[in-house]
Amino acid sequence: MNFKSKSQPNSRKYEPKPEFVERIKLLLPEEKDYNEYVEILNYPPVRSIRCNTLKISPEKLKQKLEEKGWTIKQPWHSRPEIMIVENALEPGELGRALEHMLGYYYIQELASMLPIIALKPKPNEIFLDLCSAPGSKTTQAASEMLNTGTIIANELSLGRIKILASNLEKNGVTNAIITKKDGIALCKRLKKNLPELKFDKILVDAPCSGEGTLRSSPITYQMWSMRTVYVLSQIQKQLFASAFGILKVGGEMVYSTCTHAPEENEQVVNWALNKFDKCIKIEKIEIPVKSRPGITKWKDEEYKQETKLACRIYPQDNNTEGFFLAKFKKLKEIEDD
Ligand code: SAM
Repeated sequence: MNFKSKSQPNSRKYEPKPEFVERIKLLLPEEKDYNEYVEILNYPPVRSIRCNTLKISPEKLKQKLEEKGWTIKQPWHSRPEIMIVENALEPGELGRALEHMLGYYYIQELASMLPIIALKPKPNEIFLDLCSAPGSKTTQAASEMLNTGTIIANELSLGRIKILASNLEKNGVTNAIITKKDGIALCKRLKKNLPELKFDKILVDAPCSGEGTLRSSPITYQMWSMRTVYVLSQIQKQLFASAFGILKVGGEMVYSTCTHAPEENEQVVNWALNKFDKCIKIEKIEIPVKSRPGITKWKDEEYKQETKLACRIYPQDNNTEGFFLAKFKKLKEIEDD
């Protein structure tokens, strides 16, 4: 894959911690694959944008951007709203452009668009985005829902809620309610006070150790620690379980992270499949990129075979950042719940 031709390597370089390297080598045992992974991390991700179809059609936006002299590629045939700007732009040019300020497009990394593509929110549904700031996926869901139905966009951090609110406004989203709460507490409160409210679709785009974001944020190398991975894994399980409790029977939920750590990915999935047993089913995911199956063995842990239905997105496979996603259906109401 020619990811070097149009971008300069990242200027800041950080050394990965030995434990991180050892873990990635376990996940990518083939030397060529591992070397490709390490190599691509030296380059920033492509400049990808998502046309905000609430405001403008992909054809019109493409025309406007080409009139500015930008070269636009639409990498996924089934998704014309997703575009790559191929020119070498000035730093910040994508964000300063008039079309961005008008909310005609949202700057979003390609892999980050996959959870909503997998979840397929539809018009008139009731949608919960449990960890929603800065709103990449909330705005994407609102477009898919044609601004109908209701989105509850929840977020814990006040600072990030401000960015979320501004993004929703700029993108003309009118079907979203913002809540500021710990996701676990929010689900508990909704269940107790509004037991009749159940969601058609839920996205748990969980806080994570961010191993998949090393191309755009090489400083993640410095912040990475196994302690963070273990702590987050506990929080992720609680967020998953709380959200699953308020999903409709027949409703669907996507759990996603931008990390490769199995403790935050397959271990969470395996835990949920065991906990909810006959009430939950993991589903096959349809996405327009190469993905690798979820793993079923990590160190001394074995995971259920169905965990293979989860998708691992590695940067070297599609010239994106790294991601993980898994999709679930609620088959029946949870007993003793
Ligand atoms: N979905 C967002 C998007 O696409 O723009 C990105 C979400 S980011 C991966 C995870 C978010 O979860 C962060 O904004 C973080 O502040 C928030 N968060 C962390 N702990 C949380 C909790 N207990 N409840 C709700 N949100 C939480």
